[in-house]
Amino acid sequence: MIAKVPKLLLATTNPGKIREYRFLFGDLGYQIGTLAEQGINKVATELGDSYEQNAQLKAATYAKLAQLTTIADDSGLEVDALDGEPGIHSARFAGSDATDADRMKMLLAKLANIPWEKRNAHFKCVIAVVMPEGHLELCHGECHGIIAFEARGENGFGYDPVFYLPEMGKTMAEISFEMKNRVSHRAQAAWEARQVLKRLRGQLI
Ligand code: IMP
Repeated sequence: MIAKVPKLLLATTNPGKIREYRFLFGDLGYQIGTLAEQGINKVATELGDSYEQNAQLKAATYAKLAQLTTIADDSGLEVDALDGEPGIHSARFAGSDATDADRMKMLLAKLANIPWEKRNAHFKCVIAVVMPEGHLELCHGECHGIIAFEARGENGFGYDPVFYLPEMGKTMAEISFEMKNRVSHRAQAAWEARQVLKRLRGQLI
């Protein structure tokens, strides 16, 4: 008998996240698909006031639409000197049409007079795993760093070039793809999500 491979939908259009999730979940025995591959254009707006709500909203919307087990994440950068901002507003920090470069420029400008020892920050990630009938599981990850004085490195995406990892002596954009996927906020949350997906896999086949 040929075993049926369960499908997992990645509810994101961010190419950086898609690449990371394919790597982080690639060995779990799921057939991983994206919204584009499912022909889904609908945009789920992030209207919640927490990472949890936003991740759940996105995953639940697409799980219902595609009738597939779906994962979505909501992530953000929390900077101590900015009282935790931009946080859940990280994507819209410099306006809705801004680029990653615009957001980093804005962040560095806001921290212009802040000394090294007060530039602590955290990346946060919440992954929601939602099944088509609505079953929900939330997984959390967090990574500590320091906001550098300038952007460095070409890897990763988003705020990675300004997020300095003191233990590595490099920014998140200077470490390798494999290393980011061991230490990042998304890697931590994905480790929990892997346990959930392994458990659910038995129920899906
Ligand atoms: P969202 O989770 O797609 O809403 O992302 C929020 C913001 O955080 C966006 O500006 C992303 O580019 C940024 N972001 C999310 N994950 C990462 C990451 O792993 N590294 C750097 N920036 C990230």
